[in-house]
Amino acid sequence: MERDAIPAPLKRAVLVEAGHRCAIPTCHHTTTELAHIIPWAQTKEHTFDNLIALCPNCHTRFDTKGEIDRKAMKIYKQNLGLLNNRYGELERRVFEVLAQSNERVFVVGAGSDILLNNAVKDGLFEDKNVYGLSLDLQSDDGFKKSFPLSFTYWLTDAGVEFIKRYAIGDDLS
Ligand SMILES: [Zn+2]
Repeated sequence: MERDAIPAPLKRAVLVEAGHRCAIPTCHHTTTELAHIIPWAQTKEHTFDNLIALCPNCHTRFDTKGEIDRKAMKIYKQNLGLLNNRYGELERRVFEVLAQSNERVFVVGAGSDILLNNAVKDGLFEDKNVYGLSLDLQSDDGFKKSFPLSFTYWLTDAGVEFIKRYAIGDDLS
């Protein structure tokens, strides 16, 4: 059986899932190719669940050298789905930065607090209510309110654990 090209919409969906980056969090290289998690020779089909975006180097380590095994690749794929469904773009970026920096405290501007809501709800980040910049509004009729302009978050122990598992590609579910 001849191997067909991967249809463009499917290819796009797999690349979008990984943010057009290598799906291995500690790599995230921007040059991508598609890899079959279970070899095409066995399945003889291209499906979303069996395709993952990898950089050429990780693709070789997986397919040719066997340095990354199939079970690990399935977990990377599963984590992508979980991260995409549960967390937004900013949260995923923060995970990535924290995984690389080992920092436990970070500050974001007003508005970003809303975008970090799910990670806070899941107990990964905690708002330390550190007094920082604020906007004090006051009107003639007595309305007075102070709005924080910056938010300081602390990575909880659960958050540290999550980031660690995220970085090494452990199962996040
Ligand atoms: Zn890679």
